[in-house]
Amino acid sequence: MNYGLYIHIPFCEQHCHYCAFAISTERSPAYAPYVDRLLRELRLSELAGGPRTLYLGGGTPSLLDPGLIRRLFEPLGRPGGRMPEEVTIEANPGTLTDAGLAAWRDLGINRISLGAQSFDETDLERAGRLHSNRDTIRDYEMLCRAGFENINLDLIAGLPGQEPRRWLQNLDWVERLAPEHVSVYLLELEDSTIWARQEQGVHPDDTHAWFYEAAADRLGQLGYRHYEVSSWARPGKECRHNLGYWNRVPYRGLGLGAHSFIDNERFWNTRSMSVYAGHLDRDELPLDGAETLSPRMRLEEAFLLGLRQVSGFDVGSVASELGFGYPEEWFERVRFLESAGLVEFDGRILKLAPRGWVLASGITEELLCPPLLSICEAIL
Ligand code: SF4
Repeated sequence: MNYGLYIHIPFCEQHCHYCAFAISTERSPAYAPYVDRLLRELRLSELAGGPRTLYLGGGTPSLLDPGLIRRLFEPLGRPGGRMPEEVTIEANPGTLTDAGLAAWRDLGINRISLGAQSFDETDLERAGRLHSNRDTIRDYEMLCRAGFENINLDLIAGLPGQEPRRWLQNLDWVERLAPEHVSVYLLELEDSTIWARQEQGVHPDDTHAWFYEAAADRLGQLGYRHYEVSSWARPGKECRHNLGYWNRVPYRGLGLGAHSFIDNERFWNTRSMSVYAGHLDRDELPLDGAETLSPRMRLEEAFLLGLRQVSGFDVGSVASELGFGYPEEWFERVRFLESAGLVEFDGRILKLAPRGWVLASGITEELLCPPLLSICEAIL
């Protein structure tokens, strides 16, 4: 089976003020027992064949000792298994060492996602990050010296208090370092984050749009290909693991709070570390919920994921897969959004126009109009 494998490493040295992920600030003695449980979860999952892509996300996977990562990878390299073609690890600046990077290369890790978030010291301090601008530059240079040729830099646009001038300086740093891939996330605060609880305001929508558009313009000028709403890559350096998510390739997630999608079923793990440990210590999968996607959910997902991709998606093949036809009201909405310069439609491929990128969620909602959803609800 062609599938992607995601392994969640939930440990972080601190809780960043904007973060809503399932994380734990337990220290290194907790790491080895967690890896033991991941290995048990992998065994209980009985995955057929090796994954095409592997993504170690978090949390801060770069906190794990390479010896623990080696243990995690062992079952994948066993006879009958094969190492995936793309192996990504997320890393936080300030956590890398030359010896650790050499070990990662030996293990077959070939893509690094470095969580720079900003190059501005004030932004980093306000966001509760532990690293400095110097850490990011030092670690980036260390990665290049170690021979990694597929590095992503993560940036967050619209941090509270972030000034436009300082945001443009972040883009100057991208030009100087020239990573193969850049991800720009617009800050959206979930209720559970520290900032949301402190009622730290985010920028108004039009300022938010300005940050995003400044990044899109600059990255385009620098020769990056914009292939997903938040992602830019040098040709051939698009993230294959994430492309799998957006193209509805099956994926299996292991670890705290991880989600899986296989054969039209979505299931997810508990976000509680003690419940996770308890299940695996009893040799049970640590599942917290599961659902079979209804035709309506499949339609929503196809639009949500399809419109995130800059090349758009084939609306006709979604209709034939689900067995319905688009109602006239839907075409009217598309024409309206086209005339507003927000989408482009050639009768088959629907995609966001550049002006629509920053409004992706609202446009998706608009296109999933009630007449279309009720047609899908009637499909058995
Ligand atoms: S943003 Fe990253 S480093 Fe910060 S708490 Fe969340 S997962 Fe950890």
